[in-house]
Amino acid sequence: MKKRFMPAVKTARELREVQREGLKWTVNHAHQGSSFYRSKMDEAGVRPKDIRSLDDLKRLPFTTAQDLRSDYPFPLLSVPFEKVVRIHASSGTTGKRKVLCYTQKDLDDWANMFARCYEMAGLTREDRVQIAVGYGLWTAGVGFQLGCERFGAMTVPVGPGSRDMHCELMVDLQSTVFCCTASMGLLMAEEIHRRNLRDKISVGKVIFGAERHSAAMRRKIEAYFGLEETFDIPGLTELYGPGTGLECEKHEGIHYWVDYYILEIIDPDTLESAPPGETGEMVVTTLRKEAAPLIRYRTRDLTHLKPEPCSCGSMLPRHGPLLGRTDDMFIIRGVNIYPGQIDDILSREDKVGSEYQVILMRRDGKDHMTIRVEHAESASLSENEEIAARLEDSVRRKLFVRCKVELVDYGTLPRTERKSKRVLDERDKS
Ligand code: ZN
Repeated sequence: MKKRFMPAVKTARELREVQREGLKWTVNHAHQGSSFYRSKMDEAGVRPKDIRSLDDLKRLPFTTAQDLRSDYPFPLLSVPFEKVVRIHASSGTTGKRKVLCYTQKDLDDWANMFARCYEMAGLTREDRVQIAVGYGLWTAGVGFQLGCERFGAMTVPVGPGSRDMHCELMVDLQSTVFCCTASMGLLMAEEIHRRNLRDKISVGKVIFGAERHSAAMRRKIEAYFGLEETFDIPGLTELYGPGTGLECEKHEGIHYWVDYYILEIIDPDTLESAPPGETGEMVVTTLRKEAAPLIRYRTRDLTHLKPEPCSCGSMLPRHGPLLGRTDDMFIIRGVNIYPGQIDDILSREDKVGSEYQVILMRRDGKDHMTIRVEHAESASLSENEEIAARLEDSVRRKLFVRCKVELVDYGTLPRTERKSKRVLDERDKS
């Protein structure tokens, strides 16, 4: 099938040229249109004409989430108001929401990027795409819908809705693709299993994002829906929303859209570039975004680049899964741990389920970590001790910290349709 939404350029060199032009345009545009960026560049002593090559990117100052809040309610705005046609906002867990403006061209670019995701996931115009993520201020729902319409498949715009409604529509309309958060995917998978609907539905692909998830969770969703494939989609309100990259059919990392933004990985402590392949903070610079361009924006999301070319043959580079946010990191006995690392260890053990909690306590002046995890639905209880010991050993070997693993019954840990809270830090309370 002809690829309609992939970059028009053919070589890595041409791509770099697109990036160089985009970078120059962005720096000029932001300097001209935004007093925030102008003063920031002035402070750093950089002028737009100093930015001539991609290497000059490093001369530009970082932008942070704090900058977005201090310039509330319209941070980074670089166009006159008459050009703004929409805003979206992220749910601010701390302080004010982050409000981001879009021009019509920004929305068109976003739709194209998202259409590219559906193309990469191998959809056709015959597909029926049931959308179960939130609409409104949040970027998710409308992003999935815009991209689907641009791509030319049929949208079923439900939003989170009730599980009843999702099941009914899935059966009646024979939806072929389901888009949801990973937590919602798990709830729906369990619902489909409980109602014995697997043979009555036609969902072949699930695209999920907005949330870190384990391989175990994914396997379960695949099994209960009876899926061909699942795809991980990254998304960040500041960077348009979801749809800025997708896994290909090889499922070995996320191809990201380098013709729309530059991705750097930095060490969040030193702010220097991380060595290729090493985990660090994602920093993004947009190449065409008009209303709220990003210049070296620190996303606080952790991932790594995959420097080697993908076996699918695409020249679009890849990054690894998002391991969570730098804010989610916790420190126990001097060791920095990201919840994603725990996901990773648990997902290598077949006999435990996808649901877990990490509980941090202080006893006798010492920190203690307990990982509470559900045993797999089919696992035999007699093996619990053995499984716990095996997991404790893996954590000690991989994360260099001792912990206690407790296995609990399948289905007893809380499930929510939104992001599940995994780490309970009770050290201040104990
Ligand atoms: Zn690939």
